[in-house]
Amino acid sequence: MTKRLGVMGGTFDPIHHGHLVAASEVASLFHLDEVVFVPTGQPWQKSDRVVSPAEDRYLMTVIATASNPQFSVSRIDIDRGGPTYTIDTLRDLRAEHGDADLFFITGADALSQIISWRNHKDLFDLAHFIGVTRPGHTLSDPGFPEGGVSLVEVPALAISSTGCRERVAKGEPVWYLVPDGVVQYISKRALYRETG
Ligand code: ATP
Ligand code: MG
Repeated sequence: MTKRLGVMGGTFDPIHHGHLVAASEVASLFHLDEVVFVPTGQPWQKSDRVVSPAEDRYLMTVIATASNPQFSVSRIDIDRGGPTYTIDTLRDLRAEHGDADLFFITGADALSQIISWRNHKDLFDLAHFIGVTRPGHTLSDPGFPEGGVSLVEVPALAISSTGCRERVAKGEPVWYLVPDGVVQYISKRALYRETG
């Protein structure tokens, strides 16, 4: 049987329960064998703010996913260096995972930016795209290739990394918005103390 591999790309600054619920729900609905979380290198779409060091974002992603046997984390985008393009992520994963079927999981906000991605037409040859609902963002099909994209509704969690960073900067708790180990890691490394 061909392996069904989910791909969840993100800045994960920090990873939160919205990411985890989306990945879990899509894994169940699409009978995925594994979901690999891929933290970005220096993200070009977020050049307006300081992004936490890649190693911190990678370790928080590992901490958050460690207990789930279906979840793993890849360093490909971090180790490639430079800005991350989804086309590179998918090409590298394809090379690494041979004949696996790739399912790229993305939230409504990111999906609507898909058209602006470099080489976006080639993307659909590399993976099936799964757009998930996200509170505050409309999930609509802006005209993707036939069969290239599935839109699915996941349990709504109105959590964003931006919201988590702002809470930490204001001294407000992020318990239960992010996994316990991530709360502790943020505190240990003194992340997000200054708004950035
Ligand atoms: P930021 O606020 O810094 O942009 P974020 O919360 O949007 O962070 P990202 O790392 O940018 O998190 O998101 C990675 C992927 O997860 C994106 O495809 C995004 O749409 C999706 N996503 C993020 N939060 C949610 C959520 N609460 N529900 C569903 N999908 C989400
Ligand atoms: Mg985002």
